[in-house]
Amino acid sequence: MNTEQLKIPQATAKRLPLYYRFLKNLHSSGKQRVSSAELSEAVKVDSATIRRDFSYFGALGKKGYGYNVNYLLSFFRKTLDQDEVTKVALIGVGNLGTAFLNYNFIKNNNTKIEFAFDVEKAKVGTNVREVPIYHLDDLEDKITGEISVAILTVPASVAQQITDRLVKSGIKGILNFTPARINVPDHIRIHHIDLAVELQSLIYFLKNYPQEP
Ligand code: ATP
Repeated sequence: MNTEQLKIPQATAKRLPLYYRFLKNLHSSGKQRVSSAELSEAVKVDSATIRRDFSYFGALGKKGYGYNVNYLLSFFRKTLDQDEVTKVALIGVGNLGTAFLNYNFIKNNNTKIEFAFDVEKAKVGTNVREVPIYHLDDLEDKITGEISVAILTVPASVAQQITDRLVKSGIKGILNFTPARINVPDHIRIHHIDLAVELQSLIYFLKNYPQEP
């Protein structure tokens, strides 16, 4: 994402893909403009936040008109580097990793899993949906200078050591699906997604903060 030169706050930057997906749908259904109230309802972000976010993009909504969908779309496309495909590596082709390989990211985002890695003999040398699976021994060889983002779906016990190798190979961002709390140097961006914790947290909220229908 090219948000650095734009000085967009990180919280805003995180919402960009959400806005982008919704606007793309609006655009393909032929809509030319959208109000912050409509956007708010669709993406579940309050409209004051949306207006503030959009003011960073130089998109100033007009009262009674809303925002110009084309303007916003071209802004997001540029900012999110949608004109360029980002190549991603996936480490750990277990149940979750295989699901990601089967999931066609490129349909919604311009990201493509280019290589996968595992240590299991039966998997190495095969393909899942045309993504080749290499042995972890070939990690540095394949990704250095080539890939800047990695998805981690290995057992938690090996997550840190693999991360250290990824960092040495020049990876800039890691999407960590293992429950391991991984340490990375300051210049590396890491996002943790622990599906079990997310599910537990949802159930906790349902039980303890029931919402009125
Ligand atoms: P998941 O947690 O994705 O459902 P699983 O239960 O199928 O996976 P895990 O034991 O979590 O299997 O391992 C995930 C994948 O990571 C497996 O394919 C395993 O072979 C692979 N793996 C294990 N150790 C390593 C390693 N050091 N490097 C790369 N891949 C590894």
